[in-house]
Amino acid sequence: MPTGDGLLARVHPPLGMLSLDQARAVAQGARLFGNGHLDITARANLQIRGVTETTRAPLARLLTEAGLGDRRADGGPQRLTLSQPLAGYDLAELIDVPALARAIEAAALNIPELPAKTLVVVEGRPDATLPDADCIVVARDRARVEIAIAAAADWQTVLTCVLENAPAILTALLNAFARTGRRRMRDLSDDERARLATTLRASGLAGSPCPSRGRGVVPFAPAAGLRTRPDLQILALDAPFGRCTADSLDRVVSAAQTIGADAIRLSPARGFVLLAPANAPAAAIMAELASEFIVAPDDPRRSVDACTGAPGCASGSTPTLADAACVAEMFRPLAQQGWTAHVSGCAKGCARPGPADLTLVGTQGRYGIVIGGAPGDEPTLHLPIEAVLDRLGRAKTVGLAAAFAPNMARPNTGRDGRPA
Ligand code: SF4
Repeated sequence: MPTGDGLLARVHPPLGMLSLDQARAVAQGARLFGNGHLDITARANLQIRGVTETTRAPLARLLTEAGLGDRRADGGPQRLTLSQPLAGYDLAELIDVPALARAIEAAALNIPELPAKTLVVVEGRPDATLPDADCIVVARDRARVEIAIAAAADWQTVLTCVLENAPAILTALLNAFARTGRRRMRDLSDDERARLATTLRASGLAGSPCPSRGRGVVPFAPAAGLRTRPDLQILALDAPFGRCTADSLDRVVSAAQTIGADAIRLSPARGFVLLAPANAPAAAIMAELASEFIVAPDDPRRSVDACTGAPGCASGSTPTLADAACVAEMFRPLAQQGWTAHVSGCAKGCARPGPADLTLVGTQGRYGIVIGGAPGDEPTLHLPIEAVLDRLGRAKTVGLAAAFAPNMARPNTGRDGRPA
């Protein structure tokens, strides 16, 4: 896929996990055949940046030899399921999530005409919040799961079924979806949804109808930081704005070796999760990695999304990643109150298509200001980054909307919010 810094090579680790050898291969591939930069996506995949027409073939060979090559060549999905990074180790799970995800991948990944972005979330905790997807398969109890499809604003439950039948039912559902020609489940019309349910009934695979699940409350992915259990230590490292370097990934591999972790789990929080024995030196490892990764849940960068922007993306005119780091520092008091910000290089909004409390949209070297909206919304004013930071310094006392009011005079403060 072409971008401002060359081609982008997507790596889809099965079940979102890399062996240490595979992680080393990805780092080597990014260094030798890309520009040494990697993205970790919200679907727990990796992207190697800066690949060229000359390097794409040797990179593909290296990844295939590492067991990370593409699984289909017809434009369909390379990976179908997403589950939380602690799947199989979370004490609140009611079912064997990795086994179910594996069975769904085996049964349904190669469905012809399945759109490339089709995603099935498999979750073992009934009360977990769920990321955006086409279908969800969520444990109702230890023997039954609920299957639901994405509707315009929420999930529409299709049925509940016994665990063993879920892969076959999902396969029938996704086959019927592929025949609609739609790209995402949420785009289906009411008639198409009704026909999907009819298809399932006709297949004889239908389970029982059931009411929709309530909204989840437990975070899908663990927040950055170190958690200890009597049997296990959980190290969650978020990559700032979802980016890291090949060298940083190598350091995660070395850290995994040191603490006895045999795999690197990719997190939809756009980072890595390592599982270590209870007696491993995990705290020291977290301290070592703190210069490159987010290692604390209150780090304000966790509340700020940013895309590649300039110079990496040809559509950007502002250095979004560098600006986002400055925005995050000034945003700290607001992040502590649960507010979110998004620094987008243009109105496309790759990093966060939906709304944030503060969205900055790059245009001609300045930022359009959108309060409580999405990158495609009309900005209320345009400011250079220095003025954005000045106003953010005021926002902690007067609030975001007042600080970015179009008629507010440029405050006479420095970047730290104190009088200049
Ligand atoms: S939002 Fe715009 S500038 Fe940012 S990565 Fe996407 S296309 Fe590029």
